[in-house]
Amino acid sequence: MLSEARFGFSLVSALTDPLTIEDSRQMIKRCLAERTDNFLSLCNSLIFANNSSPYKPLLLRAGYSSDRLERLVRSEGLESALSSLAADGVYLEIKEFKGQKPVKRPGLEMTFDASATDIASAPSIPLKSSGSSGPRMVTRIGIAGLRMLSSYMPVMMEGLGARHLPVVLYYPMPSVAGVLHLIIFTLSGFIPAAWFSQCPSLTAHRALPLLQLSALLAAASLRGLQLPFPRIAEIRHPAELARWISKNCPEGAVVPTFPGSALHLLQSALSESIKLPRLIFILGGEPLTERKRRFFMDAGHDVYPWYSSVETGRVALGCFRSSLPDDMHILKDRVACIKQLQGTHSSGSSNALLITSVHPDSYKFLLNVETGDEAVIGERRCGCLWEEYGLTTHISTVRSYEKLTLEGMTFMTGDIFNLVEETLPARCGGTPADYQLAEEEDTAGLTRLIVSVNPRISVHEEEVRAAVHDYFREAYIKRAPMTDILTRSSAVVVRQEFPDLTCSGKILTLRHAKKEKNRG
Ligand SMILES: [Zn+2]
Repeated sequence: MLSEARFGFSLVSALTDPLTIEDSRQMIKRCLAERTDNFLSLCNSLIFANNSSPYKPLLLRAGYSSDRLERLVRSEGLESALSSLAADGVYLEIKEFKGQKPVKRPGLEMTFDASATDIASAPSIPLKSSGSSGPRMVTRIGIAGLRMLSSYMPVMMEGLGARHLPVVLYYPMPSVAGVLHLIIFTLSGFIPAAWFSQCPSLTAHRALPLLQLSALLAAASLRGLQLPFPRIAEIRHPAELARWISKNCPEGAVVPTFPGSALHLLQSALSESIKLPRLIFILGGEPLTERKRRFFMDAGHDVYPWYSSVETGRVALGCFRSSLPDDMHILKDRVACIKQLQGTHSSGSSNALLITSVHPDSYKFLLNVETGDEAVIGERRCGCLWEEYGLTTHISTVRSYEKLTLEGMTFMTGDIFNLVEETLPARCGGTPADYQLAEEEDTAGLTRLIVSVNPRISVHEEEVRAAVHDYFREAYIKRAPMTDILTRSSAVVVRQEFPDLTCSGKILTLRHAKKEKNRG
């Protein structure tokens, strides 16, 4: 309790002393120049000088001493050295990292304790991940970590030409995404003008109890900072938010949220004939595909992607000069990203991302840890502001590599995405946010593919089922007997229901219903 009060006090002091764009520039450039030294120093203090480090057995088993690691990093470069480490078994699959699966390497078997990788110095607060890919994890973050996360905001707002525009958050109340974005925008001098929440209260999964949020806002208010308290704009029909923006933001606004939530905002405005100004949607949490982006652009708005998770913090921010939907710059001053070697990964993905922390203010120390995503990484000249800062590595096409297995057939995530993003909206109407697929077991234990269709779409269930069957038949033509089984076995079940939100308020294209409450 005392430490939380100390955290609140330190936070409010930091909030009243926001970062300038010059602070931001200095922080990024300095940490980029020092990233190799910073990484080696983190390894020395947190692994080699720490017998309880869960990474130590992995490094020692592979024959890495502090000296050998330093020689490798200095001679080959950081990313190349990390690839060598991964090839020698120094990496963690996401289930290993979360302690759901033992780490097994030749001569070593252990359970990884991710809580031992938290390095935030006190005072700090616990953040809980959404658990959409397994049990919820707790990560502690302190003021230094929060300032590091906010250090990109002044440059981002400058690059978007949005320094004069109000920021309107659309995140659940209270949630990690909501609370973190309220803090990091404020720490960089962009106090959000409003915060709307998709749901009345996600009581079962509160990141910060409402009371603490109220206390923070009250303490900030005493120091002259008016931070917004969340109000409701229900996800199924957020007309309230559309109206508020229309009334209060004549010049436009910056709206950080999830892609699905942003689509529902546009649909609501359309159905109620509310005229929205040009909005800049900053989107993350769900993949930003070309089809989704087209919906925003066609309606006269801009979209800007960012990529992060609770454990990794911000990994990448959108390129200001790109025609791809999710072309981003890796924040190499704070992380190193490599791809797992082909054939090494248990999922069969050849693009599995491994993340390593390299910033002195990292609040969790990651060493070749999977994110559960795959992506395309490459060096490219784009001429945008991030490149001027030295961030020249791009990442795009970020997707989860979780798979769906049905009646013995394995469908890759990319195919599932095309079905939800392209085929169903094109054939049956609506937007990608109106459809969701879920793997569910029926009472007989059979796996069923549940296709949820927003009831506002006037389409017969049989038409949706036929569209799904046709899609799989065409996509997997060589496996015709299998797709035939799919059609005959009633494996595809269509339900007219609003797509489910995760406990952090996202709409996942593929929901893993087996881990959730039984629908009965
Ligand atoms: Zn760029």
